[in-house]
Order: sequence, then structure tokens, then C-alpha cells
Amino acid sequence: MHDKKKHTEKELEDWRAGKVRYGCQETVFGERMWDHQCQKGATAERNGWLYCKTHDPVRVNERREARNKKWAEERAQKERKRARRRTEFTKRVMATTAEAPAAALVDEILSAGFGWWR
Ligand SMILES: [Zn+2]
Repeated sequence: MHDKKKHTEKELEDWRAGKVRYGCQETVFGERMWDHQCQKGATAERNGWLYCKTHDPVRVNERREARNKKWAEERAQKERKRARRRTEFTKRVMATTAEAPAAALVDEILSAGFGWWR
């Protein structure tokens, strides 16, 4: 395990001024036996630590929120689709009076499925 050490304020000042380059300070748990420090160049300073674009906590949060938003939209879309199919099937059930078409409709509903993943 490598020791995580903050840069000194002087080092950070030089980095902000573009006088020096430092690597990302995120610890990466990888394919190797031990964790190591990310090798990419730092582009953001957060709370005295330097991060590359991938590990910048602000960007990490943004990516997570974007992902959650996408999932929520997909869920909502599935819910709307489910509601539409439910309404459609309900109307057809109500319009069915004879046994044979009713049985065929039941088969169709059973094979269509109504799980949340549909
Ligand atoms: Zn990094």
C-alpha cells in the first residue's frame, strides 16, 4: 500500500500556476496484488488533493447522478408502457364474452408477462 500524502501548499500553488505537473492521487485497486496510485496527470484540486479527470470526485458524482437519472427515466418509461398495456388488455377483457376468445386472450396475457423488467 502506498502512502497517501498531501502536497504542501507551496507545491499546490506551483501546480495551480502551471509551474509543475503532478499525478492524480487517487488510489486504484486493480488487477495487481496491491493497490497503487493512479498514473494519470492531475487536472483538478479538491480539498488539497489532486485528481485526474476520471477520479475527480466532482466528476465522479456527476457521472453517478447522470446514471441514476438515466435509470429513473428508464424505470418511468417501463411504468408508462406497463400502464398502457394494462389498459389495452383490460378493454379487450371487457369486450370478450365468449369462452374461446377469452381463453385465447388469457393465453396472450400470460405469455406477455407483466414483470417490472418488461
Ligand atoms: Zn486518476
